[in-house]
Amino acid sequence: MLKGKSAVITGSTSGIGLGYAKVLAAEGVNVVINGFGDAAAIEKERLGLEANGIKAIYSAADMTKPSEIADMIALCASEFGGCDILINNAGIQHVSPIADFPDEKWDAIIAINLSSAFHTIKHAVPLMRKAGWGRIINTASAHALVASPDKAAYVAAKHGIAGLTKTVALEVAKDNITVNSICPGYVWTPLVEKQIPDTARARGMTEEEVKENVILAAQPTKQFVTVEQVAALALFLCQDAAASITGAMLPVDGGWTAE
Ligand code: NAD
Repeated sequence: MLKGKSAVITGSTSGIGLGYAKVLAAEGVNVVINGFGDAAAIEKERLGLEANGIKAIYSAADMTKPSEIADMIALCASEFGGCDILINNAGIQHVSPIADFPDEKWDAIIAINLSSAFHTIKHAVPLMRKAGWGRIINTASAHALVASPDKAAYVAAKHGIAGLTKTVALEVAKDNITVNSICPGYVWTPLVEKQIPDTARARGMTEEEVKENVILAAQPTKQFVTVEQVAALALFLCQDAAASITGAMLPVDGGWTAE
């Protein structure tokens, strides 16, 4: 049922976003991928997606820049005739106690992890209404539901995503468009790998202690969530069977937020 539809996936040159692009491409969805990274590596991923017989376009839009975000959605519309599926996924992290939290990190995290989703949704909703069908999926986090110390900007942005998800879900409820957030626990991606040294510094632990006593301590399963598990839920949310799931914050967190 998804064959021939189009999707924009922000932050899809790596990690969870690339996982979303792979499952959608395998279902015959044309995709716009986005994010930073090595040009040759991105081109390799793009060609890998096209091996599914779909068209994959790369947009270098910076999620801190509203005009570039508007151009990315317009690119999807001009190339693919609309924007049926929007996955807001680009995100960064910074770990620091509040009194030392750098202003520029606060601004960047709010811009990339929260405001970019406002801008993409604003431009995609009219296209979805025109098509009479749409799916908006935001990668929130367990940190959209609960907090952890030293992550003020990230937790604030992800709680903001929860508010945005619920509000837009209500606004488009009669338009055959659903809006949901997936709330992963810890998934082993570059984003998590990079925060281990900072968390170790902030908490006076070794990096190994952070992995065992901070990261996996939060997850009763004591397992990292996989990219494939998160992507499988996104694919389900795109299907007709999920048409009544909207405005939901859906944990994939090994039991973290049950505690
Ligand atoms: P990642 O670092 O592998 O991927 C982040 C992506 O965002 C990359 O493609 C990167 O290039 C892109 N990006 C960063 N800044 C950007 C900008 N200004 N403009 C455009 N793209 C930009 O990390 P990930 O773990 O795959 O994270 C993806 C999402 O999942 C994030 O929103 C993150 O908060 C969320 N998340 C991750 C975990 C986890 O444990 N890894 C848990 C919960 C939620």
